[in-house]
Amino acid sequence: MTRPGVLEQVEVPVPTAGPGEVLLAVGAVGACHSDLHVLHAPPGLFPTPMTLGHEIAGTVDSVGAGVTGWSAGDRAAVYGIIGCGTCRGCLRGLENQCRRIPPGGIGLSRDGGLAEYVAVPASRLLHVGNLDLTQAAPLTDAGLTPYHAVELARPALRPGTTCVVIGIGGLGHMAVQILAATTAVRIVAVDSSTAALDLATRVGAHHVVPAGPDAVEKIRELVGPAPDGADVVIDCVGVDPTLTTARSVVATGGQLLLVGLGGGTLPVRPVADEPPTIPLETSVTVPFWGTRAELQEVIALARAGLLTADVQTFPLERAPEAYDLLRRGEIHGRAVVVP
Ligand code: NAD
Ligand code: ZN
Ligand code: ZN
Repeated sequence: MTRPGVLEQVEVPVPTAGPGEVLLAVGAVGACHSDLHVLHAPPGLFPTPMTLGHEIAGTVDSVGAGVTGWSAGDRAAVYGIIGCGTCRGCLRGLENQCRRIPPGGIGLSRDGGLAEYVAVPASRLLHVGNLDLTQAAPLTDAGLTPYHAVELARPALRPGTTCVVIGIGGLGHMAVQILAATTAVRIVAVDSSTAALDLATRVGAHHVVPAGPDAVEKIRELVGPAPDGADVVIDCVGVDPTLTTARSVVATGGQLLLVGLGGGTLPVRPVADEPPTIPLETSVTVPFWGTRAELQEVIALARAGLLTADVQTFPLERAPEAYDLLRRGEIHGRAVVVP
């Protein structure tokens, strides 16, 4: 990102690993929809020029001063958040709740992984065993973010209850698999793309519903009339129409997790003179990414064969094309750039 809104391929020096850092030869880097939000964020929010890419796996090339436990040739996934280490969130191990503004992150506050090499703090690395690096990279965000959302909702995800997942893209197709692997809920997948719904079925959704004006009615046929409904709704899009669907199908006492950063607004109005916009006792959560401990668990799920990203690979030269396709909704599963 050479300046706000502009993606360009340019030569930059190979970074060096500072004290406590590792120089990673990038094996794979996922193209996250958030990169498009970063690209089009108001000027000044993110540094420029900056190499994007926050979903990274690679091989250790060299280590900086003071690094122990990692050496050249080790394969690793990168936890992308760099918390301040001193705020209340970080002290509790919840670096995804770091109270430093703006939050630190690889490919967000410093150069990321859309390059042959990236320097990262050694504390951000996790072993991936024999996982292919194109599989390991998407785990770090497309896997970790929905895993964290499911963790937050886990008490409500009782056997036989229903979870609706809206948006079966990079995050959503991992959410479906995480639910299938770690719960006994009925999974209902919603998307505007037929290819995404086919993918949802392949990875374990029990029902698929095309997004649109009839979506609420179709979901209601499955979960029954209000005040019953879906116990948990995970919206991985976050635009007004998906938030309307989400709040229209969530059960009384249910949980709505807004993961997508699509810019929509969720009106929260319990009973008043006008009809309520959300059922009573419903909780709304806005999860952000996840913790290092959760990423370790996501990697374990993948190593156990229970979580597999549906990956479409692109060489570094074709990264801009991958983002164009992502913008147009023509990537299914995750686009992964292989430098
Ligand atoms: P993606 O482009 O891979 O997937 C989006 C999916 O949503 C696609 O399948 C698309 O067909 C579908 N979709 C788009 N509009 C829709 C609509 N109106 N109704 C139903 N389906 C629709 O994106 P992604 O990389 O999976 O990211 C999803 C969202 O999550 C993005 O907004 C991204 O910025 C955000 N995100 C949030 C976090 C977090 O920590 N909260 C982390 C990563 C990504
Ligand atoms: Zn992301
Ligand atoms: Zn912090």
